[in-house]
This record gives sequence, structure tokens and C-alpha cells, in this order.
Amino acid sequence: MARYTGPVCKLCRREGEKLFLKGARCFSAKCSFEKRSYPPGQHGLSKRSKLSEYGIQLREKQKVKRIYGVLEKQFKNYYEKASRQKGVTGENLLKILESRLDNVVYRLGFAPSRKAARQLVLHKHFMVNGRVVNIPSYLLRPGDVVSVREKSKKLAVIHESLRRVKDENLVPWLRLDKAKLQGEFMDVPNRQDIPIDVQESLIVELYSK
Ligand code: SF4
Repeated sequence: MARYTGPVCKLCRREGEKLFLKGARCFSAKCSFEKRSYPPGQHGLSKRSKLSEYGIQLREKQKVKRIYGVLEKQFKNYYEKASRQKGVTGENLLKILESRLDNVVYRLGFAPSRKAARQLVLHKHFMVNGRVVNIPSYLLRPGDVVSVREKSKKLAVIHESLRRVKDENLVPWLRLDKAKLQGEFMDVPNRQDIPIDVQESLIVELYSK
């Protein structure tokens, strides 16, 4: 599956806010957005023109794609899947994105960012219900257990990341067992339990045009 390989911090500057794509660096003084919060490019420092309705919707879609590290084609597929499901399409879309294995590995604290989680999954460091899964976009179902493979249990990146996890910050639809290096995807989250500041209805409006 294709993925974005360009400069990551530029994406935050383009969206005009921190998207927290680089793990610990995002919380440090090294964060590019802290130093240069204007858009990238030659005209980045000049005044931003007011966005049209379409522009606002487009930016919201780009923001969500960038947060979850998903490219356009796959994102559109998720949208179509979400629109076929019962309920609110925008919320369904976020629920699908949150069910991705790389996202859950990140939210459980096994990786400092979704990008790092994706790498770890691709390198076969995780199992789902006891079987190795190396597909970052694998969609988890309620009750699925994600665990670190026996041979990967000493990986420093996992332990360093877990050290930063505070139990009270774990989302309520995941259960983490730090000692066993495993976690459970207990249920598909409700919208209010997805800690992401986006207006998903704008994405629905954009795709409905
Ligand atoms: Fe964005 Fe993190 Fe880079 Fe800061 S360090 S600009 S939050 S990706």
C-alpha cells in the first residue's frame, strides 16, 4: 500500500496546527511548527487568503488523512464504506480509521506515532489474536487482542514509548496490559471517545458534492 514519504512537519504547517505526527519530537522545542507556524513554501509568510467553503472542507479532509497517514484512494474507500453503514457517515468514517491496526498500536502506546506504529506492524512485530499481522490497515473487531510478538518483546522503541503512556490517557475502548505487552480492542469507539479535534461533517459535505 502506498504511503506519504515527504517531509512530515510540512503537513502540520500546511494545516496550520500541530498534527502530532512525530511522537516525542512534537512535544519538544524541536517541533517545526513551534518555530515556523506559517505555511511552507515561498509565499508561506505572506497573508493567507480567506478560504472558500470548498477550501475549508478540503483542508479538513486533508487534515484527517494526514493524521491517520492514509492516502486519497484508501480514504475514499473508507468514506464509501462508512456511507453504506448505519448511522452518521462522518462518525462511521472516524470509527473505521480508529479501528486500523496501526492506529490501535499507537493508541495502546506501543509506538510513539502512527507512522512508527505502521513501521512496527510492517516489520511483523505484532500479532492479532495470536497470529502475526503485518497489514497496518487491518481493521480490528471488538474483542480482538493485539500483542507484541515474543521475539520483539525487548524492542527499545516499544518500551520507551510505553514508558510515556499514562493509564489515565488511554482511550476507554482499549484495555492495556503493560506486563504482558498486549491490549484489547474492546469495542468500536463512540465519537465522543475519539480524541481528535476535527469536523468530520465537512468531509461528508465535500464528498457529497
Ligand atoms: Fe507536527 Fe510533530 Fe513536526 Fe511539530 S514535530 S510540526 S507537531 S509533526
